[in-house]
Amino acid sequence: MKALVIEHCRVGVCVNSALRLMMNRGVKPIAAVDDGVIVTAGEAVAYVNDDQLSTLNQAMQLISLSICASTAMATVKLNTGLRPFVYSSDLRELGEQATTPIIAGGGGVIDDANLFSGGGLIPIIKNYTTDPTKGNVLLVKLSGDAASLMEVVNRTYATGYSGDIIVEADVDSILRFKRSFRRMAPAILGVVVTGFRQLCTLSVTDADAVMGIFRCRRCWIDYVGTGQLKTCPRCRGRLVELVKMAERIRPMSDDALLARSQGELASSKPIRPIILPLSWFTRGKPGQ
Ligand SMILES: [Zn+2]
Repeated sequence: MKALVIEHCRVGVCVNSALRLMMNRGVKPIAAVDDGVIVTAGEAVAYVNDDQLSTLNQAMQLISLSICASTAMATVKLNTGLRPFVYSSDLRELGEQATTPIIAGGGGVIDDANLFSGGGLIPIIKNYTTDPTKGNVLLVKLSGDAASLMEVVNRTYATGYSGDIIVEADVDSILRFKRSFRRMAPAILGVVVTGFRQLCTLSVTDADAVMGIFRCRRCWIDYVGTGQLKTCPRCRGRLVELVKMAERIRPMSDDALLARSQGELASSKPIRPIILPLSWFTRGKPGQ
């Protein structure tokens, strides 16, 4: 058995968007985490039998792109409160599967590659401009620091522009200037996130058993291992089980995925969860 693991995540909270994509590419997992669910580095998002490995490997680049995109958008939303967007050209390889990371990350799309037809659940911006006299949605790129960006936005409105402004910046700059971005929230429609392709790295490792992940949202701790834990040993709060066995995995509709990701983003912290061994708390109990 193999596990598909988040090896590294620069921002700590990764949003899974691999499951629908894997199933679409013919990979049949033994167990997996649902799309839209936050995971952190070290945790597995799926377990597969060895005979699925070549199919999984063929899809790895797309899975990686998808997870990087959903993670970037969710991180921006959690840290700034702004609606995140991505350029559709940055997700071109995903084709129709590009909707999964966008919905999972709670974002929208600037359709510069003309991949989206509209009518779905995703906010799609097709008409945008960099010239304030042209109306529509004005795109302002971050160049330099947050102070100069705010100056450009302020000056644009002060000189008579009354349309929407959307800001483009790379994910690292948005996080570096997150307070300024948060302050700009009333003035801008959202932020177009770029530079996310190396945000998370994935790896496939040997696994002896399917590890459960039991999350306490209050303590922001993941109890990981084999076994069962229903309440948090620290705060007695309810634990959420993140890894589902194959028979409980159902293909999620766009609506269900949107509801899931909105719930996740509303109840998650923007920081990395910590992981504790499940066995510390289940050892010695009858039936374990
Ligand atoms: Zn707890």
